[in-house]
Amino acid sequence: MKADYIVVRFGELTTKGKNRKLFTQKLLKNTKEILFEFPQLQYQLQYDRLYIYLNGVDHEPVNKKLKNVFGIYSFSNAYKFAKDLNIVKDAIAKMINEDTKTTFKINTKRSDKTFPGQSQDINREIAGHVFHHVDRPLKVDVHHPEMLITVEIRHDAIYVMDNVIKGAGGYPVGIGGKAMLMLSGGIDSPVAGYLTLKRGVDLECVHFAAPPYTNEFAKEKVFDLVDRLRHYTHGTIKVHVVHFTKLQLAVYDNCDESYAMTVMRRMMYRIGEKLANRNHCLALVNGESIGQVASQTLDSMQVINEVVRIPVLRPVVCLDKLEIIDIANKIDTYNISIRPHEDCCTIFTPKAPATKPKSYKARAYEEKFDFEALVDECVETAQTVIVDNSYKKNEDIF
Ligand code: ATP
Ligand code: MG
Repeated sequence: MKADYIVVRFGELTTKGKNRKLFTQKLLKNTKEILFEFPQLQYQLQYDRLYIYLNGVDHEPVNKKLKNVFGIYSFSNAYKFAKDLNIVKDAIAKMINEDTKTTFKINTKRSDKTFPGQSQDINREIAGHVFHHVDRPLKVDVHHPEMLITVEIRHDAIYVMDNVIKGAGGYPVGIGGKAMLMLSGGIDSPVAGYLTLKRGVDLECVHFAAPPYTNEFAKEKVFDLVDRLRHYTHGTIKVHVVHFTKLQLAVYDNCDESYAMTVMRRMMYRIGEKLANRNHCLALVNGESIGQVASQTLDSMQVINEVVRIPVLRPVVCLDKLEIIDIANKIDTYNISIRPHEDCCTIFTPKAPATKPKSYKARAYEEKFDFEALVDECVETAQTVIVDNSYKKNEDIF
């Protein structure tokens, strides 16, 4: 059975006092953009709800997309009927018949007090009808029903809602400003990006490529990851691809192997900060997690972080790898991340990187060459690509 409309409930927004209008407007805008492929839908924003009128569109694909919209706490599919209990009883029996669950509860609210019968009696009458018209064994469970059917008898019509579907939670993307995600082709950084979006912070991405050491497939992998992440936004994410080879080779020429990783990451941060400032991003985001590799000890993080002033967000800093992988699977990035292509970091990985680097030593190596000019060149020559709905049809990206 096709639903007539969807009732959307907001999450943490309710606590935001006078900013709520800003929030709900942003949520409406993001929802419309995520559902852009269904132009027949109509939207009505109320104080604590958003109604989406389906106008004949099947609710299933719309539900699937809605689950990605941050700021939505829960939603339900709703059906509108004439004020005739017989029609409603048949429809509910049909709805339950199409399902496979075994326990249910009918919860009637009678806001039109002129409608005959008490709510409890109507519950019982509908449940009785369901038992007679559904073939599989069923039980009423008033405490933890698998199917909760809400029947609202209002003045204009009877509205029926089925199960409450959990939304993505968080805040509407964009309400918390914008950050620059350092996106490798690995497992951690896309998860870090997802968690940042969930807090309502919009993203642009920077990716460091080292052609010819890294190839087009590595780049494609990154764009495929961005294509996943953009489904949690308003549909569009900008990616800055930095050509890092020249600077990286200079780092390896001028630094002892044990410091190459530290200095290279200091360069990444410097470039990231400059690109962030240029593009109105208020923070850098990365997928660093304490202890995972040599560059992610607290000593390393300290020496690497000190070259920038911009805040650096590390959403997965305290998660175990398995916890990160769980999220990567949930957001469908894991299978892209494990495709075997070289990252610029892995190609130049030194055999024994310093786990307790000293900042005076890092500075001493950096003084041996004019890294600032090379950093600026990376910023100037970065290629900016917009990943949006036309991604995969767009030949220019590769
Ligand atoms: P990931 O799984 O995200 O690649 P990782 O565990 O492999 O992380 P590193 O390679 O040390 O760890 O990188 C740490 C973080 O630095 C990454 O999470 C990412 O944010 C950033 N980073 C690393 N390589 C790149 C790159 N080529 N382009 C952009 N950012 C990068
Ligand atoms: Mg990596």
